[in-house]
Amino acid sequence: MTTISKALQAVQARIQRAATQYGRSPESITLIAVSKTAGAESLRIAYASGQRTFGESYAQEALPKMTALQELAIEWHFIGPLQSNKTKSVAENFAWVHSVERAKIAQRLSDQRPEGLPPLNVCLQVNVSGESSKSGVAPAEVLALARAVATLPKIKLRGLMAIPEATDNVAQQHVQFRLLRELRDQLNGQGFKLDTLSMGMSHDLEAAIAEGATMVRVGSAIFGERAKA
Ligand SMILES: *Cc1c(COP(=O)(O)O)cnc(C)c1O
Repeated sequence: MTTISKALQAVQARIQRAATQYGRSPESITLIAVSKTAGAESLRIAYASGQRTFGESYAQEALPKMTALQELAIEWHFIGPLQSNKTKSVAENFAWVHSVERAKIAQRLSDQRPEGLPPLNVCLQVNVSGESSKSGVAPAEVLALARAVATLPKIKLRGLMAIPEATDNVAQQHVQFRLLRELRDQLNGQGFKLDTLSMGMSHDLEAAIAEGATMVRVGSAIFGERAKA
């Protein structure tokens, strides 16, 4: 078995264990294999091992891989920073966008989503750590953003996403993930029907699952450590 296949199995086993430990159904948690910086051949190996959902952070890097792998039934998730000049290729090529933090970007995605495709699934990215360097809408502004995004015809608002402050302190991981879950619950209390919490990466997926993650985004634990930019 290849390194990638083994690593993928190990991540699946971690998800299973965490689900069992925290009383969750493993089927309620989708693994997104984050393939940024990985070559198309690495994705092909993961696909041959059963992986169907892949996450990419940069449109210009993702598009050539999509072309190379177009015969595969991959569901593509865009998880990276999204500028106005990149919304068109994202709207045309991805099934999901996890990183919406401004109404204007959501409007462009809706306008540019091709007629023949189903609505784009969208998560709002929330800054749960309060670090000024971090992307995401402030918790106090999530409701207003959700109301704006929910009106867009070619967008289906699915939930919330966060990239917490990286920390080995497990209690601190839980605090940040719990905040995202509470925000989702508050929105649903306001009449939204959000079914998605996109949270948890290679180093903290257990804490995220404990706090209700429905999608975990795992890169380095599957494809290996990335070269530092
Ligand atoms: C790179 C990335 C991941 C994966 O991180 P790992 O630590 O490699 O698992 C998850 N989410 C986002 C938004 C990323 O950019």
